[in-house]
Amino acid sequence: MEQTVALLGPPGSGKGTQAARLREQLGFASLATGDLLRGARAAGTDLGRRASEYMDHGDLVPDELIVAMIRNAIASLDGKPILLDGFPRTVAQADALAGALKARGRELTAAILIDVPDEVVIERISRRHQGREDDRPETVRERLRVYHRETQPLVAYYDERGLLRRVDGAQDADTVEAGVLAALD
Ligand code: ADP
Repeated sequence: MEQTVALLGPPGSGKGTQAARLREQLGFASLATGDLLRGARAAGTDLGRRASEYMDHGDLVPDELIVAMIRNAIASLDGKPILLDGFPRTVAQADALAGALKARGRELTAAILIDVPDEVVIERISRRHQGREDDRPETVRERLRVYHRETQPLVAYYDERGLLRRVDGAQDADTVEAGVLAALD
């Protein structure tokens, strides 16, 4: 069966960087919900308009919008290894993901936590200056609060299911990559 891997971690943990490397190294198709949402917003779709305000405040976009988006994307990737970046972010999303994968005859093979302490996140994001509305300091703090409240419970969720792999994300990108590759072995 094709691998289906979820990358978990706070904002600024380097999930996007690692996803790009896994795409190159191992041929994963990556599904990054943040990128899909920013694309929808740039294209002015109904989804993009509805998601915009949540994103700018550092809040999560409602589960039903995200789940519909990801279900379609998964269905288009039958037979390919998939890397999920930024999804699932809530227990409801994780349950919906399990159902969506089952419907396509697959299941999650690993959830990799890229673990980075809050101080490192704040420092990294204040340095990166991407001009993203949600990279303002108060919004980063809100995104971290949301991460701890909504997404961190997934660590226990996947640990209980034997799927969790932890990688120390507070290291340089090459070292983190080596940890991620080892976790997938
Ligand atoms: P980061 O991991 O740095 O927060 P992302 O690009 O993954 O950046 O996400 C940016 C924003 O997009 C989030 O703050 C949230 O508003 C929205 N978003 C992305 N993925 C999800 C998701 N799975 N569920 C709800 N909202 C999401």
